[in-house]
Parts: sequence; structure tokens; C-alpha cells
Amino acid sequence: MLKLWNTATHVLEPIQPSTPGQIGFYACGPTVYQRAHIGNLRAYVMQDVLRRTLEMLERLRVRHVMNITDVGHLTDDADTGEDKMEKASREQGKDAWSISREYTEAFLRDLERINIVKPTIMPRATDHIVEQIELIKTLEEKGFTYQISDGIYFDTSKLPTYGSFSGQKLEDKQEGARVETNEEKRNPSDFALWKFSPTDGKRQMEWQSPWGVGFPGWHVECSAMSRKELGQPFDIHAGGVDHIPVHHENEIAQSMAAYGVPLAKHWVHSEFLLVDGQKMSKSLKNDYSLDQLREKGIEPLAYRLFLLGAHYRTKQNFTWEAVEGAQAALNRLRRAVRAWDKSGSGDLETEAVFQAAVEDDLNTPKALAVLWELVDSDFATATKSSTILWMDRVLGLQLDQCVAKPLLIPVEIKEVADRRWKARQARDWPESDRLRDELARAGWHVEDGKDGYHLERR
Ligand code: AMP
Ligand code: ZN
Repeated sequence: MLKLWNTATHVLEPIQPSTPGQIGFYACGPTVYQRAHIGNLRAYVMQDVLRRTLEMLERLRVRHVMNITDVGHLTDDADTGEDKMEKASREQGKDAWSISREYTEAFLRDLERINIVKPTIMPRATDHIVEQIELIKTLEEKGFTYQISDGIYFDTSKLPTYGSFSGQKLEDKQEGARVETNEEKRNPSDFALWKFSPTDGKRQMEWQSPWGVGFPGWHVECSAMSRKELGQPFDIHAGGVDHIPVHHENEIAQSMAAYGVPLAKHWVHSEFLLVDGQKMSKSLKNDYSLDQLREKGIEPLAYRLFLLGAHYRTKQNFTWEAVEGAQAALNRLRRAVRAWDKSGSGDLETEAVFQAAVEDDLNTPKALAVLWELVDSDFATATKSSTILWMDRVLGLQLDQCVAKPLLIPVEIKEVADRRWKARQARDWPESDRLRDELARAGWHVEDGKDGYHLERR
């Protein structure tokens, strides 16, 4: 049985579906104003491993909801600052709606490239304004709201349990130094439910509401859309650790205040990807995209393998050496499995050890160790094939494309790849790129190592 650390209770708890055989799973998704960086993707890969585990090992039907935040997320994560969408629109000279479309599509492409199973449904905040207004109205009727000059706020002092999720006391919860304090708020931890459009200008994204023209606060969308898609309480809510003190604390507060029941039963949070000890983030300019990894010969799946090498609740340091190591490991793995015989029956004992590791709070580093032991073991290769394919339904490394599929490289492909390697060594990048595209059109993917290239069928 799968046990996961529950942020709400601080213990490992078994996952027990409220409806037998089914899991309602909500994950806070991207804010679509820029390309996701590989730190963001750490959170989504972890969620994907969780979903695959629930489906493949626990045999549960998972309704996986991931929202798309396309309005209301302000630059400081609290209630001052500019809407990230409107800011990006100003900076990129495009309208906010097309920015949302562009980066939603880019995000979906990234998910596919890193082999994340597409969520069952990806609701957009801007498509759920009515539901969000309903939630705020309910909070208003129950006396949890008040109005100040820039919007409608949630009064956290009215909810005795406020702060217990992240373990903060109300009086301790001061707004961070970089956050401007809003003098009109009754308590520092109060948060915006509805913000008014500025009086001196029109926003691109704004709607009529009972309180005036404006837009919903960021936390409201998750409470409203998760309830609509999964009911309340639902089984599992996931996000990054940065969501714990503000975003999730506030989701929990408003949902409990409005409907008198918890929002979700189990809360799982993944830790950060670091660069030189600091969180990878756009604002620190230490972020990379999957494309930037690719330029250095690191495939998305190699990055996925790198991520699986750390437990999701530990910080993980990004270095080029580490991801190059992951690429080399993936290449080695593929070469090994290609030579194996077609699947026979799996080794049940190895599978049980693997399953126990994954069910122990998604211990992917241990699960990978079991995989490598299998690779180096003396089992018949047909047994290895079957076992590794079974493991890969959780790990998602697309090994099915390689197991027992020896690589036969046609001479004409080899010839193009050789020419490309020479062009690269002569630093003739345009020619090298052109030949890479030619290989891609023929269905081949080339990765460069220090001493030569490696071809893979795609
Ligand atoms: P955002 O698009 O900014 O709302 O963030 C999307 C997701 O990425 C959230 O779940 C964050 O917790 C997560 N995230 C942001 N930066 C990092 C990082 N450096 N490492 C891991 N996760 C991150
Ligand atoms: Zn959320």
C-alpha cells in the first residue's frame, strides 16, 4: 500500500481513496506567462510519478486535475505587485490572452517531451470566473470578508484554525520584507479574494462582479476549480514547498470557511531544485529550460532520470556534470536493454522490492538502485526485459522503445551523422543544425558525447 508524507499531519500516511478504486488528485499548475524552467518541471515530474504509481501499482483510477493560472497571480505571490500576465504582456508587447495561449502550448509540449502523462483535465482560471465569484459570495454571506480600497479580502482572524497548516501563528505572519504592507488590511495574513481594476486604467483581463470590475485573487481559483472537478474533500493535493505558507494555507482557509469541510485529505509537496545552493528561479536568472539542456546534448528523458535520482522531499542540486552523468546513464541503459530478448515473465521478487521502494513515500532513488541491480544481474534477459518494462510504467523513461530492439543504423543515416559530427568539430553550427534536422526528419535523434555521437531511433 502506498504511503505518502502528509504535510497537513507531518506523518507518513497510507493513501486510502474516499471512493473505492478512485483517486481525486489536484496539482497546482503553471502560471502561463513564460516558459517553464526545469525547476518547475521537478514538481510536475514528481506528480507524474505519483499518478503513475497510483494507477500502475495501486490499480486506482485517477482523476488528475492541473490548473492553468492565467490571471491573478501577482509578482510577489501576495496581494501587492503586478499581475504576472499583464506584466508579461507589457514587456513582450503581446496581449495577455495570446501570451496565455502561447505558454500553455509550450508547457504542454514540455510535459510531452519529459513524458508526463497529460492530466485528465486542465482547467483555466479565466474560464472559471463564475465559480470563483460564487465562492467569494459564500464567504461574504458567512462574514469572512471585508472591503478595502483595492479589493475584497479574507479576514484570517475569523477562522480559528488559520495558520495551523503551515504552523504559523497569526501574529507571527508578517508580510515579507519585499512585500509592501497594505496598511488597510486588518491582519498581515489577510489575502485578496477579488481585486479591483485600477481606477485610472483598464486591465486586459477583467470581469464584472457584485463588488465591481476586477479579477480574482490567485488562491481562489484552486479552491473553486478543485471543488468543481473533484468535490470536497478530495484525496490528494500537490504542489511545490513554496506553496505551503501562503497559497495552500489560504486555499485551505477559504474552502473550510465557505463549506465547513477540509479541502483535501492528503497534501504532498516537492522540494526545490537548486543551483549553487539557491532556488532555481527566473528572477535569480539561474534558470534553464529543456531547450537549453538540449543544446548541450541533454535529452528531456535524461533530465527526468536525473530527477528520479533524488527523493522529492529533499533539495536537489543542479549541475551540468550531474545531468551529463544522467544522459550517459540513460545511454548505457538503452544500449543494455536493446540487446535483451523479448519479454518473458518478470522476476516477482525484484518487482516486489521495487514496489516497496516506490510505495515508501515514492523513494525513486531506491527504485533506481533496484533497476540498476536488475540490469547487472544474471537473470535471463527475457526476464530482465519484462521486469524493466513493468518498472518503467512508473519511471516513465520510455524504455519500451528500446527493450529488445537492437539498433540497426542504415548506412545513409550513419553517413549523415558522421558529416554532422565533422561539422560540429569544425564549429559549423548552421550545417550541424541542418544535418540534425535532416536526421530528425528521417526519425533519428542524435546526442553528442565528448568522444562522439550517439544515435537513437525516435
Ligand atoms: P509557478 O509557475 O511559478 O506557479 O510555479 C510552478 C511550480 O514550480 C510550483 O509548484 C512551484 O513550487 C514549482 N517551482 C518553482 N521553482 C522551483 C524550483 N526551483 N524547484 C522546484 N520546483 C519549483
Ligand atoms: Zn493552487
